[in-house]
Amino acid sequence: MVYFTSDVDGDTYAILRAPDAHTHVNKLYELRTDNSGFAVPLPDPHDITDWDLDDPIDGIDKVSMWGSVAKHFRPIMGPMHTTYPQDGWWTSTLLPDPFLLSELSIKRMTLMFQALKRLPAPPNCEAAWMDRIASMLPVDIDIPWAIIWRSVGSLLLSPKAEYTWFRWLHRGLYVRSKQEAATRVCRLCKARLESQKHLPFCTTTRPIRELVNRIIETLGYDSSLINTNPLLSLGLNLDSNMEVWQDPAVLAILRLYWRVVYKHMTRLEVEGTHFYTPAVCKDLCREFMSCILAYQSERRTFYLTRKYTSRPEILPISAVSKVASIGELDVHTGTLHIKPTLVNLLKEYDSYTDFNWAESE
Ligand SMILES: [Zn+2]
Repeated sequence: MVYFTSDVDGDTYAILRAPDAHTHVNKLYELRTDNSGFAVPLPDPHDITDWDLDDPIDGIDKVSMWGSVAKHFRPIMGPMHTTYPQDGWWTSTLLPDPFLLSELSIKRMTLMFQALKRLPAPPNCEAAWMDRIASMLPVDIDIPWAIIWRSVGSLLLSPKAEYTWFRWLHRGLYVRSKQEAATRVCRLCKARLESQKHLPFCTTTRPIRELVNRIIETLGYDSSLINTNPLLSLGLNLDSNMEVWQDPAVLAILRLYWRVVYKHMTRLEVEGTHFYTPAVCKDLCREFMSCILAYQSERRTFYLTRKYTSRPEILPISAVSKVASIGELDVHTGTLHIKPTLVNLLKEYDSYTDFNWAESE
């Protein structure tokens, strides 16, 4: 679809058909348009083979449409140079993926509003945390709280999967320090006061923290990048440079740690089951695998809905770099090939599921 100024009718929209093997002519079909953006092509196209299509004054202009090319009805917004905003691929710091304005669904808007609500007015928990952790911080280093809050809602985790970590960050997990004095001892190590601050340091959960660090290294990061203080690493998701991790896969494993450990802690408290570290490690790997599967499944669905449309690009290129630490995402098929070192680690914990096997049969 193009826009040009006609000598007779003034501003006119039209469809430009490039020359084909039979005609060798540029044909321009004028369009009858109405205010809703609906357009009908008229018969008798103009032969415009001798027009200079690149001329900015006498030539033709691009036109902005509303909705992805997959849509049957795409209203005309106007000549591209006078139209803002374009539908295009938009990004928001509040959302994990680029999106089309015309596809800004209620679900996406709700996500954005939720994220916005979290941004201003730092919660009381920041001050409460600072009282407790100031002594363990390097001199002259501030906790990047604003960035920590903005990182909530990571690409690979559902809000539910992230919730336990989020509650800890708000100092809202149930811990025994809220009980009467006689029963405040940590239910896991039975040696220290059970508090929000103690949890990431508890000796019983050390093997699980070591597994988290091993997974981060398997994702391709040098161990020197991992903050040696487990509260800063697992809790505040800071690396050794005191910056919030950017990689969604790293954020996912750091946050899943809380979900899995706390789930087993609660079972111990409520059902009296033993906190068995190998079972917790396996559970952690399975949760991580299911995040990857959910992501793969979403990409595949996205791809399949666009497969038979004229849309040339299947997935935005930026999607590739976001999951590069997990493996290679094929933008043409939506398939994520998990890197072998990660597959081996997941297999070691009996947690690997091959998403692609059914299609390669
Ligand atoms: Zn403990």
